[in-house]
Amino acid sequence: MALKFAAGGALAGVAAYGLYSLNQPKKYQLKMIISGGPGSGKGTQCDLLVNKYGVKHISTGDALRHHVKTGTDLGREAKAYMERGDLVPDSLVIGICKAEMETKEAKQNGWLLDGMPRTKAQCDALDTMGLVPNLFLRLDVPDEVMMDRACGRRQDPVTRQIYHVKYKKPPTQEIEARLVIRSDDTVEKMTNRIKQYHTNTTAVSGSYSDKLVALDGNRAPTDVFPAVCAAVDSALAK
Ligand code: ADP
Repeated sequence: MALKFAAGGALAGVAAYGLYSLNQPKKYQLKMIISGGPGSGKGTQCDLLVNKYGVKHISTGDALRHHVKTGTDLGREAKAYMERGDLVPDSLVIGICKAEMETKEAKQNGWLLDGMPRTKAQCDALDTMGLVPNLFLRLDVPDEVMMDRACGRRQDPVTRQIYHVKYKKPPTQEIEARLVIRSDDTVEKMTNRIKQYHTNTTAVSGSYSDKLVALDGNRAPTDVFPAVCAAVDSALAK
């Protein structure tokens, strides 16, 4: 009987905690910006982070591609910039970010901002919105490695899984036959994207120098991830 009561009490406690954790923002929420050049491995690390920490992933690149694909006004405005590998106007990405940050998921689970800020104006906009990260993580990868990674990158439109023609081949011929290439993953567009990245990174990293952790991203994703987690855990413990 006593045991039953104790178990019941524990269950009630778990249920109450469950409700608490669902309805209340966590005290030590992860609020993180991940940066790095095109092909630096941000997307892969973001998937792993979402899985481990349950944060809301906000990718300006993914959101913009979705707008282009579904033909919204915003997508129509962004398309030409993206196809050249140029940055889209600040107002467009700031609007996307604001909307995503206002979702219940971002408020309750914390956020992982990927692809923004890329300009000083975007840093200032985050500041104005009161969005202050507890970690700014940068993945450093040599230009020629980013070029090689992006130009061989292929995506499965069915599962969204990313493969690479040399480093991560698809498991079956059926999957291989349906893989697609991102329209800006060409040598010419990557040259521009890498150039844009270097032009903007100093200003952006400078805005978060007190939160900055720079990691060597020129390793296998499974070797990068423990270093990323160590940086996250240390930021959360502060
Ligand atoms: P990558 O980092 O690999 O270049 P993304 O998927 O993050 O790719 O972004 C793809 C494109 O979307 C960029 O080349 C740019 O045109 C646009 N974009 C994404 N985020 C921003 C941003 N914060 N500011 C301006 N343009 C952006």
